[in-house]
Amino acid sequence: MFSISRELKTLLSGSPAVRVVVLTGAGISAESGVPTFRGTDGLWSKFKPEELANVDAFMSNPDLVWSWYQHRREIINKVQPNEGHTSLARMEEKLADFTLITQNVDGLHRRAGSRNVLELHGNILYNKCIKCSKMYQTLPDEEAKSAPVCECGGRIRPDVVWFGEMLPQQILQSAFRAAENAAVFFSIGTSALVHPAASLPVIAKQRGAYLVEINVETTVLTDYADEFLEGPSGEVLPSLMKECGLA
Ligand code: NAD
Ligand code: ZN
Repeated sequence: MFSISRELKTLLSGSPAVRVVVLTGAGISAESGVPTFRGTDGLWSKFKPEELANVDAFMSNPDLVWSWYQHRREIINKVQPNEGHTSLARMEEKLADFTLITQNVDGLHRRAGSRNVLELHGNILYNKCIKCSKMYQTLPDEEAKSAPVCECGGRIRPDVVWFGEMLPQQILQSAFRAAENAAVFFSIGTSALVHPAASLPVIAKQRGAYLVEINVETTVLTDYADEFLEGPSGEVLPSLMKECGLA
């Protein structure tokens, strides 16, 4: 079980102007019932996400990729943010200099009340045309089993970043700038393997941040971190908030 160090408590409770940056991954949504890519997911477990979440797969089999996204959207629409998400929304309210960076595409941070969220990999609830880039918040046919087609004739795809694609550059730049200036950096529920997001905690620590990891298991980052809080983020974060006087 985890125990929060005196050093971390002092950092977080000392000044409301302390610069805090948080990076989250699929693990923060696990307790809401959104499967991580490492978890098993019934029918879809026979596909590797890497095989579906890329542009070549979409071009050669748009309906298969589309139905995988529709399946993930159905899960996301049914679930609720958990106490990990709501704790981070509260942290944003309490601290003057707080940045939340997420690799998740599920939109649960916003639903929990977080306002400024740097979504590195896009948001699964939005779509865009591959040809003319028109954004679609509402699909021409919500129930469509096959990838819908834009008025220009191009296919409509989810507005997420696929394997092999560039991350949105402005958002990425803001994330790096925040990491470079962080006094405390939290890496939460991420396997810390997917770059460039995985470099954020490393850069933060190189530039002097106190690096804290929250995860149910160790990762490549654990030995490098200043503090490892082992446990589900939906339990660790509410305790942390309470113990640091932020609840
Ligand atoms: P990942 O699946 O590689 O790793 C998830 C991490 O969360 C693991 O280290 C695991 O030990 C940890 N974890 C599981 N349950 C936890 C809990 N209750 N509390 C704390 N930690 C927990 O996910 P990743 O690092 O985010 O990277 C994979 C990619 O998958 C990302 O690019 C992301 O866009 C995408 N993805 C997103 C979602 C989502 O939006 N919810 C879901 C699956 C995958
Ligand atoms: Zn179009």
